[in-house]
Formats: sequence, structure tokens, C-alpha cells
Amino acid sequence: AKEQGRNRFHYFTPSMQEYARYRMELIKDLRNAINRKEFEIYFQPIVDMSNGEVYKVEALIRWHHPERGMVSPAEFIPVAEETGLINEIGNWVFEKAAQQSARWRSQFGVEIQISINKSPIQFRDEGVTFADWLSLLRHLDLSSNAICVEITEGLLLDASMGVTDKLLAYRDAGIQVSLDDFGTGYSSLAYLKKFDIDYLKIDQSFTRNLEDDSDGVALCEAIIVMAHKLGIKVIAEGVETEHQKEILAAAGCDYGQGYLYSKPVCLAEFEQAYLLGRKS
Ligand code: C2E
Ligand code: CA
Ligand code: CA
Ligand code: CA
Repeated sequence: AKEQGRNRFHYFTPSMQEYARYRMELIKDLRNAINRKEFEIYFQPIVDMSNGEVYKVEALIRWHHPERGMVSPAEFIPVAEETGLINEIGNWVFEKAAQQSARWRSQFGVEIQISINKSPIQFRDEGVTFADWLSLLRHLDLSSNAICVEITEGLLLDASMGVTDKLLAYRDAGIQVSLDDFGTGYSSLAYLKKFDIDYLKIDQSFTRNLEDDSDGVALCEAIIVMAHKLGIKVIAEGVETEHQKEILAAAGCDYGQGYLYSKPVCLAEFEQAYLLGRKS
């Protein structure tokens, strides 16, 4: 029995122990991050391919960890989802985005739609949150399409979350919906049939190799034609080169987002680049 016990512990290699410890600390720090004001929203423009103008922006969260420095959302969002902290974080992002939209309107006289990412987990306890969101929009005197919600294909798989009804409620309230990372899920096409969405975002993995990938070009063209027939606008993610942009524009893509136009930037940089000098 003793031998067995020892073997059991052999199973956990030092690196796994380290990882477990690291993860526990991350969770602990994550719980405090909102109160300690360690989160910040970065903004990345989504550009109209027909005229090069900023059409709207995506809000992307950043975590300035006091010791680790910048922690990527790719690293902490999954942990936040597993622990349920994503609800609090998601509400924080929504609040900040709505307040920012109202501020831009009063400072610069422009209404810029802000897209926020909504985790599938957030749909679970949706009832209360959604009402709160709507009342904040009303309180700020914002139209409901000041905010667009980006959802991923995966979430729609889970019928138990009542996603269909919830998305219908969004539509009734006038909140727009983007289908994020399009093409990476299992049943993208079924979703398009089932849900009334406003935007489809072609995943970066399709955009990346467009230059030397004629199949990739054909796929993008087909996605765009199909979306347009369904009355859906198309945003290409991860546009990094002029050539990619040209291929996508020629294929009829409506909007582009990516390093070619701008990386996600902090508020001050965004305002400097796109808003200062406009009317006040
Ligand atoms: P996403 O929603 O697909 O966001 C796009 C990601 O691609 C962002 O990474 C962005 O910085 C990056 N990106 C934009 N243009 C380019 C490009 O031209 N080339 C390349 N290589 N990358 C580009 P980021 O900010 O690290 O976010 C990663 C993911 O974390 C997001 O993917 C999203 O799933 C999640 N995320 C970020 N903020 C939030 C949030 O507030 N709530 C939730 N639930 N998830 C978030
Ligand atoms: Ca997104
Ligand atoms: Ca995406
Ligand atoms: Ca539609």
C-alpha cells in the first residue's frame, strides 16, 4: 500500500506541481484584480474596407499583474471561465464599454459601436445580467446598438443554456450580435440557419495564408457570398498585409480588423489616433 501511495505521487511531476501552484495563484490574483483596478480595456478598430474609415471597435481586456506584468487574455480567460469569475469580469467589460461609448459621444460627438466578447459561461446566469445591461444603456441614454456582442460558435452547441431565446431577446432589445472565429467550430452553417446574427467574423486562421493559398481564397469568397445572401455583414480578422486586404476586398468583404490597420491600443492611443481633432 505504501508502495502504491508513493507511485501515486510519482504521477505528479514537479512541473505539474508547479503548474497547479501557478494556477491557484492565478485564481487568487484574478479574484482581486477588479478591486485592485488591474484590468484595462484596449481598443482595436474594425475598418470599413470600402473607404478605410473606422467603422467600430472591439474591446479586448488586458490584465496588468503587479508581479507578472501583462497577462494575456488567452491565458486568464479560460481560468476565469472555469471558476465562474468570468461573469464579474464580463460585466465589468460591458460597463466600461458602455460608459466609454457615452463619453466619446459627449466629448467627440460620435457614436462608435463597441464590440465586446461574451463568454458562453456568461449565458448561464443571463436573466439578471441582461436586464442590468439594458438598464445601464438606458441610464446612459445610449441606443442599444452602442454595444455589439461577440459570441463564439461553440457556445451555441449548448442548448441547455437557452441561447436561442437569449439571442432573440438581444434582437428584440436591438443589441447586435457577431459570430466570432467563424469557420473554426463544428457546425457553423447550422448556426447561420438557426440564429439571426448581424456580423460574421472570418477567423484569422483563414486570413493568415491567403496570399499563397488559392483554396483559402475560394473559402473566403464562398463565406462572404453566403453571408451576404443571408443579410449578414462580414468582418475579416487578423488582416496583417496589404495583399490580404486586397484579396478580401476583391472578394467583397465588408470590414477588416488586424495589425495592418492597428494593433489593439490603450484608450489614450485610440483617441489620439482616431478621435482627437474631431468636433467636440
Ligand atoms: P478574439 O476575440 O478572437 O480577439 C482577437 C485576437 O486577435 C486579439 O487577441 C487580438 O489582439 C488579436 N489580433 C488582432 N489583430 C491581429 C492580427 O492582425 N494578427 C494577429 N496575429 N492577431 C491579431 P487578444 O487581445 O490577446 O485576445 C485573445 C482572446 O481572448 C480573444 O480572441 C477573446 O477570445 C479573448 N478575450 C479578450 N478580451 C476578452 C473579454 O473582454 N471577454 C472575453 N470573454 N474574452 C476576451
Ligand atoms: Ca472577438
Ligand atoms: Ca476572433
Ligand atoms: Ca440578419
